[in-house]
Amino acid sequence: MDNVKITICYFDYNYFNVNLISLLCTNKTLRLMIPAKGYAAPKAAIPLEPFKFERREAGPHDVQVEILYCGVCHSDIHQARDEWGGAMFPMVPGHEIVGKVVKVGDHVTKFKVGDIAGVGVFVDSCRHCPSCLAGEEQYCDESPTFTYSTYDKDGNVTYGGYSNQIVVDENYTLHVSEKLPLAGVAPLLCAGITTWSPIQHWKMGKGHKVGVVGLGGLGHMAVKFAVSKGAEVTVLSTSPNKKADAEKLGAHHFLVTREKEQMNAAERSLDFIINTVSAQHQYNDYLPLLKISGTMVLVGIPPEEPSLGAVNLISKRRSIAGSMIGGIKETQEMLDYCAEHNIVSEVEVIPMNYINEAFERVIKGDVRYRFVIDMATL
Ligand SMILES: [Zn+2]
Ligand SMILES: [Zn+2]
Repeated sequence: MDNVKITICYFDYNYFNVNLISLLCTNKTLRLMIPAKGYAAPKAAIPLEPFKFERREAGPHDVQVEILYCGVCHSDIHQARDEWGGAMFPMVPGHEIVGKVVKVGDHVTKFKVGDIAGVGVFVDSCRHCPSCLAGEEQYCDESPTFTYSTYDKDGNVTYGGYSNQIVVDENYTLHVSEKLPLAGVAPLLCAGITTWSPIQHWKMGKGHKVGVVGLGGLGHMAVKFAVSKGAEVTVLSTSPNKKADAEKLGAHHFLVTREKEQMNAAERSLDFIINTVSAQHQYNDYLPLLKISGTMVLVGIPPEEPSLGAVNLISKRRSIAGSMIGGIKETQEMLDYCAEHNIVSEVEVIPMNYINEAFERVIKGDVRYRFVIDMATL
């Protein structure tokens, strides 16, 4: 149904003088709402529990997606525990969403009922700033509308993918190939695009030596993409027991970062480093591995700012850079590339009621390499 624009006016009369003493008007787009269910954190750092809520009914430009799978991203945990501040509760996390289109609005042209669709980290943006016009909505000047824990343009709280369905504007919804195992596709919507975007931006590939720091949800996708693009890939990890996995993922070399000799021997050997670590660590430990003019791209956010030595940069004209998820166009390109090259995330599929244990295991790094919730278990 079309959304209805209603002007709400509040009149406050003084009945004796029949004077209008205040008139407050607000413009808010009211839509019919539909029931939804999921799992929510009722408050910061409280275990997630079953939660019933409402979503807007699909408007003219919206698609309604019945969620089949949702990945468990480390940022879901940071947010559910309000570790970044500003979190909104009750919170339904989840921004690695794959599902089936069950309804489309009258003006939707890109999707039809029955299509497989994906939803990532954001569901809208201002659409007019230079970043949005360039198709890099993730860098929207007014901040993208994130998939959960924020307000959408209607003023409703956004709820994420740990739920049975989601309603999203078609321009912020992705096409997913049915050829791929869908549980393995879900993490592509955050972990995948976060590592794909810098590889594309810096044109990493054939002839390049690329280091990947951290072999987790992000790191294992960085390895798959960099290998697929033809780069010679080195995994840098604190855990020697990840060597066999790194090789299975296609990495050519493996360095244990605690082994000083190995690290020294690798000095000035890499063109790029994709640093996926969000635990506390020092950038200075990795910069010497870059060749002249090499670049280390950060995609993880450590809790405290690591120190950074100017000499490590100046002495070899090295750069340190950052990158955040990717735009809609780029995310679609990545999904299409994955379908063509048969690339998915390594996942452990879990039932919805396992989520609190899954959070604990993610924090311990005890997952290879992404938990994905099977929404049929909700
Ligand atoms: Zn994420
Ligand atoms: Zn914008």
